[in-house]
Amino acid sequence: MIQQRFGIPATSTGAILRAEARNGAPVGVEAAKIISTGSLAPDEMVLQLVAAWLDKIDGTFLFDGFPRTVRQAEQFEVLLCERRQALDLAILLELPEPVIQVRMLRRLTCSNCGKVISIGRHVREANNPCPNCGGKLEARDDDNVGALARRMHEYREKTVPVTDFYDRRGILARVDASRAGESVFKDVSELIIA
Ligand SMILES: [Zn+2]
Repeated sequence: MIQQRFGIPATSTGAILRAEARNGAPVGVEAAKIISTGSLAPDEMVLQLVAAWLDKIDGTFLFDGFPRTVRQAEQFEVLLCERRQALDLAILLELPEPVIQVRMLRRLTCSNCGKVISIGRHVREANNPCPNCGGKLEARDDDNVGALARRMHEYREKTVPVTDFYDRRGILARVDASRAGESVFKDVSELIIA
């Protein structure tokens, strides 16, 4: 949505990794295996993919779900410094754990166009076709309760310190993501254009 509204190139490390895995790139296949267990991909691997993506981008960009660890944040800072760029905003979307679980278990991805679909919102049932292109909807490998518990544990251990990292640099903004999508999008938009 941010990409469409503002024309800012946006990606997530998950999207980069899945694209690499689909292309059969060894780094992507290896990362997909790790992520399917609910663990985070190794920092070196993630940074390498982020750097390759940034090579294709000129100017402003947006990452979704990155950095996930303090080490990634530190290495990312070095990477941007080498490119004479700096991060000017980090947005934390805050969501209570039970809400995360419900949303995740309803989330499907179109195997054809890649659109993220929510059961009950975009489609009625998991076996409905993609409303965007008619493609087949699939749950991601890492969207199950066991993997979620591991992801939440990693989040508390590794990602919460990242918010402190950006807080100390004075660029952290918190957004309550438990509200309707439009309100969250409005707040995020205002932060981006500010
Ligand atoms: Zn589709």
